Amino acid sequence: MVEVTRTVVVESAQLPRKVFRIFVELEGMYRNMVEQLVLYAVRNELTSFTRLKALKYGELRSLYPQLPSHYAYTACQDASTRAKSFSRLKKEGLVRKDYPEVRKVSIWLDDHLWRVKSLTSIEITTHRGWIAVEMEPHKQFWKYVNSGWRLASEAKVKLDKKSRRLVVYLTFKKSVEAYRPRGFVAVDVNENHVAVLVDGKAHLFETNFRAVVLGYYYRRKRAQEKYGKLYGVNCRVERKVLGKLKERKRKSGLKWKLANVIVRVAKERRYAVVLEGLGKKPGKEMINHVKDGQLRHRVYQASFKGVQKAVEEKAKEHGVPVIHVNPKNTSRMCPVHNTTIIYSNGSRIGKCSKDGEPWHRDVAACYNLLLRARLGCGSDAPSLGWLAVDGSRVPLGSTATHDPIVVTRALWARWKPLGATNKHELMRMSI
Ligand SMILES: [Zn+2]
Repeated sequence: MVEVTRTVVVESAQLPRKVFRIFVELEGMYRNMVEQLVLYAVRNELTSFTRLKALKYGELRSLYPQLPSHYAYTACQDASTRAKSFSRLKKEGLVRKDYPEVRKVSIWLDDHLWRVKSLTSIEITTHRGWIAVEMEPHKQFWKYVNSGWRLASEAKVKLDKKSRRLVVYLTFKKSVEAYRPRGFVAVDVNENHVAVLVDGKAHLFETNFRAVVLGYYYRRKRAQEKYGKLYGVNCRVERKVLGKLKERKRKSGLKWKLANVIVRVAKERRYAVVLEGLGKKPGKEMINHVKDGQLRHRVYQASFKGVQKAVEEKAKEHGVPVIHVNPKNTSRMCPVHNTTIIYSNGSRIGKCSKDGEPWHRDVAACYNLLLRARLGCGSDAPSLGWLAVDGSRVPLGSTATHDPIVVTRALWARWKPLGATNKHELMRMSI
């Protein structure tokens, strides 16, 4: 049994000015607490929530005696999370500032600070007592409510000052039982492709996430130069322009789509998904050519962790087992002869140093993942078919080892996550 968690964002109805003002006051106090706590935590190298609470709770209570006491708890949680991620970034050399800036604030709520009143309204406690807030639920919200997810006790609230609404971040949870796999779908993620091996057929999904990230980076730089000169560094106009670039949204939309495709294929066949076990610095060697530290960070955040995590999350949600295997040399070794594959001139197609059969590097990687999963997990999965583990039979007449089916981004990006059309496309692809 695994627990799956999803955040769903719902807006409230527009609040009367008087009511909204209470939330503005609440936010001000909460922000002040978090700012003080973060400063204190970073200065004293404290990242533990319990330590921070033990040291500062009394002080916070006397600072805002009119606030419900649990805001002091959640402010400590919020601050220790911020302090933790700041000190991690600092260690990696990704921030120059000495103290983190508390710019965006969402108010963290625990089970003492809010409650559900009805399916479409909640109540939040404030320094002025409990306030009922009507919500404007959407399709996705109802999907979670109606499909066996339960609402968790923690929530966050952000203020949308322009429209006088609260933006409520609800957390839904579900327990899912994974099935016993009858086979494997091997998934190899690299900078620009995701290779998927199903039943002896390799599919190469073009992602070009690297280009997306690089493109954004350079546009951001241009915007900074342009508006930085006019209005100063990190000004409002610049932030607005950058927000419009919508990098995050675009990338995450695509990666979830791809994760959906992969997980669905596995679920239909009751297979497990096999992924590389990534260390803390996934794919670092692949972007050694990128000099800029910040950029490097973004590139592998985007292309590796992102897709891997999306596949893992989706798999969890659907009860699809995930197997992690050792990623070492997956594209360098011939999966049949266990000898090196020789690639010349940066080509993605190489030759086995023993028998000279051709291998596409992403396909070889997938087969190695598959072999490692099969050897490592001792499951009841059927044999790999034509690919004999002892290397006695190789389908050299076949093009399967070096000729994956390429699925361009233009094609898969149009697939609807769960529509009938996808199924059709995939069926056609795998014939
Ligand atoms: Zn070979």
